[in-house]
This record gives sequence, structure tokens and C-alpha cells, in this order.
Amino acid sequence: MPARNDAAPLPIRLRDYAPPPWRVVQAELDFELGIDASEVGARLHLARDPAQDAPLRLDGEELELLAIALDGAPLPAGRWRYADGVLEVDGARDGSVLETRVRVRPAENTALEGLYLSGSREAGFLLTQCEAEGFRRITFFPDRPDVLARFTVTLRADRARFPVLLAGGNPDGAGELPGGRHWARFVDPHPKPSYLFALVAGRLEKIERDYRTADGRAVKLAIWSEADAIGRCRYALGALERAMRWDEETYGRNYDLDVFHVVATHDFNMGAMENKGLNIFNAKYLLADPDTTTDDEYRAVEAVVAHEYFHNWSGNRVTCRDWFQLSLKEGLTVFREQQFSARMNSPALKRIEDVALLRRAQFPEDAGPLAHPVRPAEYREINNFYTATVYEKGAELVRMLAGRLGEAGFRRGMDLYFARHDGRAATLEDFLAALGEANGLDLSPYLAWYAQAGTPRLTARGRHDAAARTYTLTLAQHTPPTPGQPDKRPLPIPVKLALFDRAGRMLPLRLDGQTSAASTERVVVLAQAEQDFVFRGVDAPPVPSLLRGFSAPVILECDYAPEELALLLAHDPDGFNRWEAGQQLALRAYAALRDGGGEAAVEGWCAALAALFDDAALDPALLADLLTPPGEIELAEREREVDPARIHALRQELQRRLAAALGGERLERHHRKLAADAGAQPDAAAQARRRLKRRVLELLALHDPAAALPLAQRQYESAAGMTDRLAALAVLVRHEAPQALNALAAFRARHAQDPLALDKWFAVQAQIPGEPALARVRALEADPAFTLKNPNRVRALLGSYASGNPSGFHRADGAGYRLLAERLAQLDALNPQVAARLATAFNGWQRLEPVRREQARQALAALAGHGALSRNLAEIVGHLLP
Ligand code: ZN
Repeated sequence: MPARNDAAPLPIRLRDYAPPPWRVVQAELDFELGIDASEVGARLHLARDPAQDAPLRLDGEELELLAIALDGAPLPAGRWRYADGVLEVDGARDGSVLETRVRVRPAENTALEGLYLSGSREAGFLLTQCEAEGFRRITFFPDRPDVLARFTVTLRADRARFPVLLAGGNPDGAGELPGGRHWARFVDPHPKPSYLFALVAGRLEKIERDYRTADGRAVKLAIWSEADAIGRCRYALGALERAMRWDEETYGRNYDLDVFHVVATHDFNMGAMENKGLNIFNAKYLLADPDTTTDDEYRAVEAVVAHEYFHNWSGNRVTCRDWFQLSLKEGLTVFREQQFSARMNSPALKRIEDVALLRRAQFPEDAGPLAHPVRPAEYREINNFYTATVYEKGAELVRMLAGRLGEAGFRRGMDLYFARHDGRAATLEDFLAALGEANGLDLSPYLAWYAQAGTPRLTARGRHDAAARTYTLTLAQHTPPTPGQPDKRPLPIPVKLALFDRAGRMLPLRLDGQTSAASTERVVVLAQAEQDFVFRGVDAPPVPSLLRGFSAPVILECDYAPEELALLLAHDPDGFNRWEAGQQLALRAYAALRDGGGEAAVEGWCAALAALFDDAALDPALLADLLTPPGEIELAEREREVDPARIHALRQELQRRLAAALGGERLERHHRKLAADAGAQPDAAAQARRRLKRRVLELLALHDPAAALPLAQRQYESAAGMTDRLAALAVLVRHEAPQALNALAAFRARHAQDPLALDKWFAVQAQIPGEPALARVRALEADPAFTLKNPNRVRALLGSYASGNPSGFHRADGAGYRLLAERLAQLDALNPQVAARLATAFNGWQRLEPVRREQARQALAALAGHGALSRNLAEIVGHLLP
């Protein structure tokens, strides 16, 4: 008896939160696993909240109810009702035991939520994905994160077809059953919400390592994958061990079970999932070897392995009271992951990478129809809120708090947070209270950051008074309106700053009203709409370095003179702000090209970079990033009316000018020098050289294709690893070089057996700029390897096209929009989560120039009129087309 509540009309609101009237203290689950049908028996030990008088209601979707009993007695039909995703049961008391038996159909589950099949019926395996509300597709349960239960899970299955049986918690026995079947039991001693439940069953291989925690527990670490990929799990295992040590050393957090399993799947809606004791990963974020994995992906594997591991404390031991608090675990865990990655790699590069992501993914979200606070006030479909705002902006908010408290203070606060809320479900208020109380501070003003959407604009003006020897810095803030929030309050904005003299030396800072010793860097907090900060003893007009390390997620507007930016680019020891000064110069050069007449700005930017190009002391990776102007999405954010084709053309021209200023010969020489050591090891120094090599090749290809394309072909053929190979392929494909066809065929043949490499083959072609992209995407949709059923493949082709190729997608004739809208309707019937995510490519359509805007509107209107959209996609389309 299937029941769905897709049509649920009302949004769920934070202010309506009420504690659960019924809890599950203990859950005993029994699975009879099969690919077409699996049966799930559940014995739930219930506790009633004496203060509430509500009937027992359990969530359940698309469940076929086979049997139901209360306190040992089968329940007759009149004593229960199952409709619209809710099972209501009469007669339950505090201490009652409810038993249900249901059937679910894994092979038919194309939504990849609940229990489903990864891979083929013959060779694939069964697995679960429950966050946020997938558990209700497995059995009846109060499927909300503030219900924490002890889980005992018994799995039974055919031994030949499912030799490996895994669930979260500690192993608690296994054995044979008649008829070639076997069983395994797992007991999780830590109470957990249902979204952290997981099981995996099938033919899988593992690599293992023994780990001893700082507090002395022996832990078996195991990474599992299908046999063909087991050789690519080593790197992740090492990353896991590094993450475990780091969390012990940095936060005093030890692992708390006897086993820690991680499983790779090619069929996954998201990146990875932190199920207690049994993490499940999109293979893209777990498998790695030099032949198939790029350097960027290596870093992503390390970061995601760490992220999911860190959730064991920030998310699992202390979980979220409700889904509005999602950033409590995600923002905090992204921040912890960023700290870890900075420690393992270069802190400056990591910061640049994170801020670039924030600007490319979160700022546009905050500026468009999908804008929402880090803690949303309402939602219709929670899966739509796993966003850059909740994750990345949420991490920036934790970073501000950590900066406010200092390293030792933040640690004190985190210790109190973990101790106070261990084994419980918490709120963002709880988090701020613990951090504040441990430090004798009131952090509640920062709550406003969690409630208010939109990116604040921070303006800075400086005034030097020679007679008084003072420098007055006036900071002001303004946050533009967002949907549903017309009026914004001022927020506390920590601005880390330094002042430079004209020779590039940092000045001691003596702030008005402050007596303690002067340092050369400090944080001022702008708490009001506008404030003055007066620095004393300043002899000459200084150059301010503001928002160092990107100390707050805001857009800084400061009218620097170009030579001031050049000074910061040359001298700022803050690696992030150094890069940022270069980005500001690039933005001015871009604006000069666009508006005409500003030759000096273009030449200034090029000259500043040319001066750094042969600086042997500069990290090659930082140089590569300095040589990269802001991307097309970031540029579009600064326009009132967006014409993506024009932005693409102008940005290409800007880079051509840079390449010309550097000179073809110099670029070629540099490429040759970097190509000389053509290994593929993923260590930081080698990664940095490859990053610069790619940038140099890209610039050369813009300046002198006749020289660059043969070079790219040679690099393709001789590449020792995926980073160099893919960089060369991308240059050939994007320039539509005659050599591209052969290279694509060679790539396809070489990596025919590897879905992750094949995804790159699709993605690189989906990113051909401009008009030709659409025809290529259409042709690739007809490729036998393309399927709407695999999320990675969909993201590789359609995601890369719609979200990663502005000039290809935003065609003036609207054909890109129509293609996407048609696919969304088809995909939505299979996998609503992935469809809704893909639809966010339409974000920002209202700011397109009029011709494209009208085309986008029509495509969206056609999609909206389609009728049978999922709750997921309907919510996104509803926001896009108000
Ligand atoms: Zn997470």
C-alpha cells in the first residue's frame, strides 16, 4: 500500500518546532535482504512524553505493510491507519513495543534514497542513504533527528550473492543459515537518530588497517569497494588515519567504536554520508590513483574523508534538534575540514580555494531567488537545503566565532559544547551559548548572521590627518534585501587589518582608546551600520590591508588606487590578501576592457603579474592562482544585466592580454621547464608545479594556438597522470583543435572501464565554450554510456553544461534552457533530489539581459506547467518563478 505525501502543501516552519510526543528508546531491526524485494522487521521500544497527549504517529513512505503488532498482539485493521506518509496506531502506552514488518523494493528505487541497488542486478550491491528523511522508506519510525535510539540490526541474505553484510555499530555475531543463507548482527552502543542508520550488502572487497586511538581503543579501519577499484582505496585509508590523529590532537576527540567502515558506490546523490560507523561515499570522493585522479580530486578525497570522519563528533555524538539546525553540524564540520586541509596542505592556497568557492557558489545563491539564511526559517523539502549557504557560509560563521575566541578559547568552547550536549540533539543557540560561556562572552549577537540571508556589502574609506598624525578608517555595512526579508539589520563583522607604509612595511597599530602594546595586525568589529576607527601615530597616508584571510563573508568595496593594490600584491605577507589584491586589479582591468578606454588598468594588472612571473620564491600554485582572473560566474555577479557570451569574450580577451604581456616565448620556456619533471605524485610541491603548468599552457593557447596546441598534444601523450592528461585534453577540446578528436578517442579507450574517468570525458566536452556546446551535449546524450539514472553521469554532462559553462548554456535562442527544462522533467520522475539540484542552474535568470531572460522564463514556465513535479523540484521552481 504505497503512500506518498509529495503534494504536502504547507511549508514546515522553525517556529512550529515541538518536541516529539513519542520516542524510540531501542530499535531492533531485522532485514531479509533481496534485490527485488527486501523485508524489514522492526521492534520499537516506545517512550511517551507525559507532558503531551498525541497519538502514536510514525513516518513511512512507499512501504508495503505486511504485519503489525502492539505489545505482542497482532493489531486488527481498525486500530491503525496508513495514509499520506503517516502510520497512526491506537492504544500505545509508555513502554509499549510496536512490531511492524514491511516490504520494500530496492531494484525499483531510482530516487537513491532509502534502501537501493548500486550497479547491476547481477553484480551490484545493496546500500542505504537515509539523511535527511530516507529512513522512512525503510521502515516505520519517528524519522526526525531529535529521536535518538539504540539500534540492534540483524541482516540475513543469500551468502553467494551477498557475502559481505555490514551495518553501523559494533559487530555482534554472524553465522550460517539453512539454504545457503547467512546472518550478521550489529549493535550500536551510541544512541543515534534514524538518519545515521546504514547497511551495505553485496560482493565487496576491503583493505584494512589497525588503529589505536589516543585514549587506547583498538579500532579496525576498513575501506570497501567493488573488486575492480580496491587498488584505489589506499589514499583514502591514509587520509582517514591522518584525520583521526588530527581530531585527537586538535580537539581531543577520539573515535568510539571498535570498527570504522567506509564504502564506495558509483550511485550516490551527494558527496558522502557520515552514517555512524559505516560511512558511505560517492566513489568520486574515495577512490584515487595517479592514473585516474586529478590533483584537485586528491585534495577533495582527503577533505571529504576527513569531513565525514569529523562528523562522528560534530553531527553524530552531538546531533541536530531539527533540520533547521543543519548548519550546526555541516557548517561546523566544513570548518573543521578546512582547518585540517589547511594543516595538511598550504593554508593560503586552501583559503583562496575556499573563498573562490564561496564567491562562485554561495554569493550567487545569496543574491538570487533561492536566497535563504544559514538557518532557514521554513522549507518544503529539506533535501533542497543542503546548500552552499548552509555548508560554506555556515563554515564562515564558525570561522568568525573561532577568530573571535582565539585558538585556545575556541577549543575551550568546543570542549564545553561536546561535553554538555554529548548524546543529545542541539541547536545553534546551544552552540553559541557553549562557546560564549566557556569564554565569559555573550556571542548571541552572532545569531543574527544565522537568521539573515544576503551577503553584506562592507565599504571602507580612509582619511589621513597629517597634523594629528591619525588615520581614520570608516567602515560601513549594508545588506541588500532578499526574498521575504526586505529590511536588514547590521551584523557584527570582524575585520582583520594591517596598515602598510609606501615602502610595503607593516605599521604598528595604535587604535584610539587602546593602551596595550601595538601589534601590526588586529581585528576590529564593525557592529553598527557605520563606525570610525582611529589609528594614532601614523605619519603618512598608509595602505590598508582589510579583511585579511577573508575574516568575514562579505563583499568589500574600497576605492584603492591601482598602485596601492600593486603594493599589497607585492608585499602583503597575508597570502590570501596578496591574491585578493591581484583579483581586485584583474577586476579593474576587466571593467576597463568592458567599458573601453582604460588601457592603464589592463597594463597595470599585466605588468604586476609579469613582475612576479619569474619570482623563484613564489609558490608555483599561488602564482597559478594569481594568473587566473575571477571566473565568469563571479564576473556576472557584478553586472546589473548579464550577457554571459560577452562576459566570456571579455574574460578571454583579458587573459589574452596577460599572455601577450608575458610573451609567447617566456610562456613556452616556462612550460618546458615545468614539463621536465613529469611525474604524477600527489605531494604538494608536485601538485603546485602541475597547477602552474596547466595555467601556463592555457594562457599560451590563448596567445598562440599554433604553438600551444601541438604542445598540448605532446603533453596529452606523455602525461604520467590524470592531472596533466586532463589539462592537455581540456585545452585541445576547448579550442576545438584538430588534435582533440584523437585525444578524446584515446582517453575514452584508455579509461573505458572507469566510470569516474568517463565522467571527466563527458564533463570536458560539456564545457566547450559558446554556441557549439549545445550540439555536443545533445550528441553525448545519445552516447550509450549516458544515462539519467546515474547522478555522477548526469552531473558530468548536464551539470557541467548548465552550471559550469555559462557561455554554452545561456544561448540567446534559449535552446540551452529548453534542453535543461526537458531533462529536468524526465529526471524528476526518476530522482527528485538530483533534479532539484540541477534546476538551480536557473538561479540568477532574472538578471540576464532581456532576450535571454524571456527565454529562461518561458522554459521555466513550461517546466512549472508540467504538472507532476516532485516536492523537491516544485519547491525550487516555485522560488525561481515566484
Ligand atoms: Zn557534512
